[in-house]
Amino acid sequence: MIRNRGTQIIKKGSVVKGKMNEPEIAPIYLTTAFHGKDLDDLEKYYSEKGYTYNRIRNPNRDALAELVTYLENGEDSMICSSGMAAISTIFLSMLAVGDHVVANNNLYGETLDLLKSLKRYGIETTVVDFNNLEELESAVRNETKVIYTETISNPLMTIVDIEAVSNIAHRNNARLIVDNTFATSLMFRPLDFGADVSINSLTKFANGHSDVVGGAATSSKELIGKAKSLQALLGCTMDSFSSFLCQRGIRTMDLRVKRQMDNANALAGVLDRNPNVLGVNYPNLEGHPQHELAKRIFENGYGAMLSFELPEDRDKVNRFMQELDIVKYAMTLGGYSTTLSYPVLSSHFQFTKEERLKMGISDGLMRVSVGIEDIEDLINDFTKALRVFE
Ligand SMILES: *Cc1c(COP(=O)(O)O)cnc(C)c1O
Repeated sequence: MIRNRGTQIIKKGSVVKGKMNEPEIAPIYLTTAFHGKDLDDLEKYYSEKGYTYNRIRNPNRDALAELVTYLENGEDSMICSSGMAAISTIFLSMLAVGDHVVANNNLYGETLDLLKSLKRYGIETTVVDFNNLEELESAVRNETKVIYTETISNPLMTIVDIEAVSNIAHRNNARLIVDNTFATSLMFRPLDFGADVSINSLTKFANGHSDVVGGAATSSKELIGKAKSLQALLGCTMDSFSSFLCQRGIRTMDLRVKRQMDNANALAGVLDRNPNVLGVNYPNLEGHPQHELAKRIFENGYGAMLSFELPEDRDKVNRFMQELDIVKYAMTLGGYSTTLSYPVLSSHFQFTKEERLKMGISDGLMRVSVGIEDIEDLINDFTKALRVFE
């Protein structure tokens, strides 16, 4: 019996079984279609092993699904061409005209845009603060079918009590969908805390090498079966090569993400003590509003995402960014290298300054996705660049 999750991550999801000796690594099935020998063979399409056409099923995608399902502790996963494809397909498969959604107010911007656009299909969304459970419950209606949140929010890293929210959802006959991208399954598995669906943008920590765009939804066989039928019609399945790359990325996720979380924890402490930094948002800092919750529910660390606040001085912020040698600006996260992003000009570009300040997002806020670099190099890079504020 293999107990260690790191070991299983290396072992799970090999698909090549049959007459030949198994290769160490499953081949990439770069094929549009699969031959059928006869009618008996064609009927296999309806069974577990039936491959006919790439949009519908592909062995590399199935192998990746097996691995993601294991990580998230679900029954099955749908593997999509992007995180947004997973989110939109799940919504469309679970919601119909007249249904209502209650969503957290600090979601990934494009998820909120998507929910808003569903209004013209007769699906309404109410947005509330999920750290106020009374406000959340009072927003639930008879028509509420889905409650939607992220485990850790962008860019302030607030944390939601998923177990409490799942109780509210189930008391009201709604289903809870959790976007677990920022946390990853190494730190938190939403399904273990009562969520019905766990979403991951595989683009981020799962693939981890900033060379694939992909997404997954993990849930029961029933919900995923329904979603996959729709996915085949929408045509947003992940291609074989990306599936292969993503599976390869996940093989080292245990090593990478644990190191990234350790680095983030150390960096958060250093930034917090730096006199040029006005504040740091990281779940393992005493001042974090859900620090106790984070300690209770997270395993292996507190995530590899943090944000910090600099004085609102555009010239100096520019110089700070120019001074960084190792850390580069990039509009992604979760890769092996440390990247910086600026919420005011990315995720929160559509808001006015007043709206942003109400959300706690100042013009000096920087978000960091911490990579696997040597921690001393990282600390030195930030410390050196922060001197522009002296
Ligand atoms: C990136 C991201 C998404 C969207 O994923 P894509 O792969 O870019 O489509 C959704 N949710 C969160 C939290 C993300 O960071």
